[in-house]
Amino acid sequence: MGSPGPFQLPESWATHVRGELAEIDRQDLRRTILTPETGQGPRIRLYGRELLNFTSNNYLGLATDDRVVAGAVAAAREYGAGAGAARLLCGSTPIHEELETRLAELKGQERALLYSAGYLANLGVITALAGKGDVVFSDALNHASIIDGCRLSGATPAIFRHSDAAHLEELLASTPARRRLVVTETVFSMDGDIGPLPALVELARRYEALLLIDEAHATGVIGDHGAGALSHFGIDEGPVVVIGTLSKALGSAGGFVAGPAALIDFLVNRSRSFIFQTALPPPSVGAALAALDIMAAEPARQRHLAELADRLRVGLAALGYAPTASETAIVPLVIGEAAAAVQLELRLRDRGILAKAIRPPTVPTGTSRIRFNVMATHTAADVDAVLAAVPRAT
Ligand SMILES: *Cc1c(COP(=O)(O)O)cnc(C)c1O
Repeated sequence: MGSPGPFQLPESWATHVRGELAEIDRQDLRRTILTPETGQGPRIRLYGRELLNFTSNNYLGLATDDRVVAGAVAAAREYGAGAGAARLLCGSTPIHEELETRLAELKGQERALLYSAGYLANLGVITALAGKGDVVFSDALNHASIIDGCRLSGATPAIFRHSDAAHLEELLASTPARRRLVVTETVFSMDGDIGPLPALVELARRYEALLLIDEAHATGVIGDHGAGALSHFGIDEGPVVVIGTLSKALGSAGGFVAGPAALIDFLVNRSRSFIFQTALPPPSVGAALAALDIMAAEPARQRHLAELADRLRVGLAALGYAPTASETAIVPLVIGEAAAAVQLELRLRDRGILAKAIRPPTVPTGTSRIRFNVMATHTAADVDAVLAAVPRAT
């Protein structure tokens, strides 16, 4: 008879897990969860201390906006806290359909389809579209959810150098394929730079490829009223399908794809992370609808966000840091070694600033960084407080 107590791993698994953690520590890559006591405002309380929050993707400040919260509450009252079933069973509601219509409009596409997360949208769309015999041309800095979708699809990957349209063209010209899928983020999550979308659309046209763009950090941040990169570049036609998330600027949770009607019908029938997943909870849908209303009515938020990010970039340059490709609300301060980035994170936290060190495998080895995420609910004084806490470049 065993003694009572917590459940235990078998010895072989316990040894494996301990060994992996020791290796992670040796590389200065241990990750831990921070738990603030407040929501995602510009100021948060972390273990009793108030900190300026520069690490949230809540770009427009909508996650904690009263009207967005009210949207969630109203949807919960009407339809419940959970959807109870997949969309193809009975989990769909009129507000799911309304949100899909609104998202399709925002992205200038025929229709949209909701997923429970942006991660699941990438996984479900890429695996439904591409398979053995197809080639997925993927930007070297694409998000893990895109990489996982490519891997799971069984298609042949062809990785092009970051935002390098000439390299993509070389690969398109030299790689035989049944069908070609090109996948890229539009605003890159770790550098805040904007990809060369017009050139990619042109290449997709020329090589009969479908271009899948991930707008996780573009929606709400760039383009007319936050419509994203197609609007930013004035592109209104082409073989382009959009992936997005409700979890960042829209302040809610969930993901979506927007594209031609036939593609959406195909995904409803073939996309496993749509079919085998409980529908998005009604409160998330209600919150996202309210957020879209605010985005449409209050473009000043987007402008203020852009101004604050500029102020931070200019200030970092004045402190002697080399300029980066950042053009959006994500402002990286590239340090290099993982340990040094963590040290700077701790120094900033001592001075009242929460901004996280980003290390491999999230970013390439040797490019560990502090990533500052600006929010529309920050003030110029908040940005100046960051600049006062950052040491001069050495
Ligand atoms: C955050 C993110 C996702 C995933 O979105 P979730 O809704 O958080 O699952 C997908 N792609 C990129 C580029 C992201 O940054």
